[in-house]
Amino acid sequence: MNNDNDNFDRPSSESTGSVPEREEERFPDPIPDTRLYVPDNADWGVEIKRDSERIYCYAKLPGQDYFHLILSGEIYVTRQHERYCLHCALRMGFLTQDRLFWQHRVPKKPHRVL
Ligand SMILES: [Zn+2]
Repeated sequence: MNNDNDNFDRPSSESTGSVPEREEERFPDPIPDTRLYVPDNADWGVEIKRDSERIYCYAKLPGQDYFHLILSGEIYVTRQHERYCLHCALRMGFLTQDRLFWQHRVPKKPHRVL
């Protein structure tokens, strides 16, 4: 890590103002980055629950012994006949929030430069 703090420690007798805060500290983004990515995107579909049919997520949450309902209006992912809520799909690795998943997913052998 770069430590450039030295420049800010000098007392300034001319200026009475303080060092302006960094932009992201003054205006934190109120919307979290909820973008999701599907590494195996050929296998998966995305649906919005629109009808009144009772459908259930195919995965159980840890500590629960029942399949939970997917609610009307909920976005869920499908693979053939399977349905998963976004929470479970993320948990099980079907979805990722890692924007660079395509770089990270393949366990590469370390490149040896000879
Ligand atoms: Zn679920």
